[in-house]
Amino acid sequence: MKALVIGGSLGGLFAANLLLDQGWEVDVYERVGDDLAARGAGIGTHTELLDVLARLGIRMDERLGVVIPDRICVDRTGRELYRCHWAHTMSAWANVYRPLKDRFPVARYHFGKSVTGLVQDRNRVTAFFDDGASAEGDLLIGADGLRSIVRAQLIPDVQPQYAGYVAWRSIVEESLLPAASREWLGEGYWFVLPKGEMFLSYQVPAKDLGRIGRDWNYVWYRPVTETQLADFCTDSRGKCHGTGIAPPLIRPDVTAYIKREARELLPPHLARLIDVSQPFFQSIFDIESPRLTVGRVALLGDAAFVARPHVGMGVTKGALDALCLSRSIQQSKTLDAALARYDRLRSEFGRRCVARARRLGSYIEARSRPDKGWTPEQLDQRPERVLHEVALALADIPELQIEV
Ligand SMILES: Cc1cc2nc3c(=O)[nH]c(=O)nc-3n(C[C@H](O)[C@H](O)[C@H](O)COP(=O)(O)OP(=O)(O)OC[C@H]3O[C@@H](n4cnc5c(N)ncnc54)[C@H](O)[C@@H]3O)c2cc1C
Repeated sequence: MKALVIGGSLGGLFAANLLLDQGWEVDVYERVGDDLAARGAGIGTHTELLDVLARLGIRMDERLGVVIPDRICVDRTGRELYRCHWAHTMSAWANVYRPLKDRFPVARYHFGKSVTGLVQDRNRVTAFFDDGASAEGDLLIGADGLRSIVRAQLIPDVQPQYAGYVAWRSIVEESLLPAASREWLGEGYWFVLPKGEMFLSYQVPAKDLGRIGRDWNYVWYRPVTETQLADFCTDSRGKCHGTGIAPPLIRPDVTAYIKREARELLPPHLARLIDVSQPFFQSIFDIESPRLTVGRVALLGDAAFVARPHVGMGVTKGALDALCLSRSIQQSKTLDAALARYDRLRSEFGRRCVARARRLGSYIEARSRPDKGWTPEQLDQRPERVLHEVALALADIPELQIEV
């Protein structure tokens, strides 16, 4: 059996490696022309993610993950407001991508191949690429992310819904920080909760695995109206790039603004992270697909569902989607039956995950959309609630206990 995987990021690589181990012939087609390792920032991990990696023979050791003992919420002066013990393994996107990519046959990973369309009949599916080439297989996996072309072809009505806020983020090499900041930051998982906002920061292993040391990852969720977003996404030449802009094109005055805001709203040692870095932002979206399979095509990862990052589950969800697909294929008598099982289980998980993430981010959304009629529960941003609910272990979320 032959699978075509569209998108060579984490979701695609999980699926490709798992199917390869089951004896499938697998080709991965990635739009970007070179190695993706340079992109991505920090990620939270879950035991279930580590289990899928272990299944592929990849161990999340000290090099790939950092265990963070405590979550601490501070006010803008740095005074501690709330603390809870919470051993959580943080990693970096590249640290999961690299071993997955290295494990997959080089000749079967095709860089610079952008899918533009597909056709299928009862048993076969053909993908077409922008260079005029095509490829045929028994199964096509659309792992092409938030703006999936595969999804757009199959279910054109599904569009990403802007959540009303963005995440400013970056990774800072620890050695760039003064000794006083390094000492103050220690090993904490820091939270600051200005009204209607959420800032968090934690250590991740050095992005460059050859370098000994750690980096600091930060994410700052801030309400941004549609009009402000259009301004943030406009480059120095006056061109608006829609709802997202490549980091190098962010205007210097926008970067200067966020650094000023950081000095105003965050404690000095956390504001310094933003000051010494090149912050970039990502708009936050929700995506819910009504179904994950159409004929011989399956959607997976962010192409299928995007939950706001507060559940810290994007990579884990992609890994579990891939595991469920490969398991369904293993357990079912026919590929049609396998795809039906996959659709049923992962649609349910995706819907619940999106709903939970929406609830965790509702107090931030409410600030840019105050007239939507929010309940007190949706506006609750008490530290004891936020610190306990953000990126909770999957095993501790009853509504997400769905078989894979
Ligand atoms: C602020 C923020 C914080 C986050 N924090 C976390 C976290 O703590 N933990 C966590 O688990 N997740 C986190 N995530 C989410 C996580 O990064 C993604 O959910 C996860 O990587 C899903 O991967 P994917 O492979 O499905 O999609 P993507 O990583 O988006 O990959 C899609 C791939 O498809 C390729 N592609 C697109 N179009 C085409 C085409 N036409 N032809 C061929 N290839 C194509 C793209 O180039 C890309 O490589 C966060 C996200 C954000 C925005």
